[in-house]
Amino acid sequence: METMRALIKGKPGTGLELASLPVPDIGPMDVLIRISRTAICGTDLHIWKWDPWAQKTIPIPMTVGHEYCGYVEKTGSGVTDLNPGDYVSGEGHLVCGRCRNCLAGRRHLCPNTVGVGVNRPGAFADFLVLPYRNVYKLDPAIPENLAATFDPLGNAIHTALSWDLVAEDVLITGAGPIGCMAASVCRFAGARHVVITDPNPFRLDLAKRLGATRTVDINKECLGTVKDELGMKEGFDIALEMSGHPLGLSDILEHTAHGARVSLLGIFPDKLEIDFEKVIFKGLILKGIYGREMFETWYKMSSMVRAGLDPSAVITHEFDALDFEKAFETMLSGKSGKVILNWS
Ligand code: NAD
Ligand code: ZN
Repeated sequence: METMRALIKGKPGTGLELASLPVPDIGPMDVLIRISRTAICGTDLHIWKWDPWAQKTIPIPMTVGHEYCGYVEKTGSGVTDLNPGDYVSGEGHLVCGRCRNCLAGRRHLCPNTVGVGVNRPGAFADFLVLPYRNVYKLDPAIPENLAATFDPLGNAIHTALSWDLVAEDVLITGAGPIGCMAASVCRFAGARHVVITDPNPFRLDLAKRLGATRTVDINKECLGTVKDELGMKEGFDIALEMSGHPLGLSDILEHTAHGARVSLLGIFPDKLEIDFEKVIFKGLILKGIYGREMFETWYKMSSMVRAGLDPSAVITHEFDALDFEKAFETMLSGKSGKVILNWS
């Protein structure tokens, strides 16, 4: 039996272990992908730490990871449009295909979504099995490390491109990897001011390199003063919540203009209190964002990158897959952007 390396959560507690598992079989509509690069996501950190969310969500044992690129190794008998050697990534949300939203082509709104590396075996391994519908063929000109971050870049693009950004003033709360990538997307899409907040100076520097026009350390500065400095009379036209911290959202409710459009990507702790008076009397429009649009976000992402969008500065570290412990420590330190694991 052929075996492969896989990073698994094998037992409750902190960390992951490197296991040797059989190379999985594929069904007639599946594709076997040989993984080349993966990136570590905040979700993987939750699983690493084995926090309450991970404990209630992840069945053990589980191969983790859902940000990757690689090459088609083999296809099922029913797959006609993909071939061995094709350069691919894949959508990590598997949808039912039968609910109202799926049938209407709004697959990102499927209520029966299953996650790669969360509910079914993931990509931190030499091989991944994926239904062919979820496989996304990549332009060979896109570098592997960047392609491995298409899942979170897609989050940033879905969140930012929910609104017309041309000449608008944008506030992004949270300069994590996704907030930093969103800054580059907003600038590319024609926003005027792109202001980003975070308490972490390392992350703010990264956001600046990715195109944020003004960074705000929330421990040192107040957004009201920054708005005055920029000559903004009413407030931000567009806001992207990417911190998952309640204060990120209160900054948005406070500093947006009347009629502003707000996308919410960050995942908040349970039972968040929000000031609905601000939402109502300002006439704010709030939109929750989950994942990527299938596959409009993927199309935009590839085309924007081919047209000159370059968020690759968000990648700050690369490790051999065997050095996964160092890679996770780096990610946990807060002094990183995206961290790549190299499997080839
Ligand atoms: P991350 O945790 O690396 O980044 C969050 C950043 O917010 C950190 O740099 C942190 O210092 C900063 N922050 C903390 N408190 C803040 C505050 N009060 N104001 C401003 N910034 C603050 O996460 P990420 O990988 O960049 O992802 C961003 C968020 O999106 C996370 O909450 C993540 O769970 C969520 N997420 C959601 C989806 C979805 O489909 N909805 C998908 C991926 C990630
Ligand atoms: Zn569905």
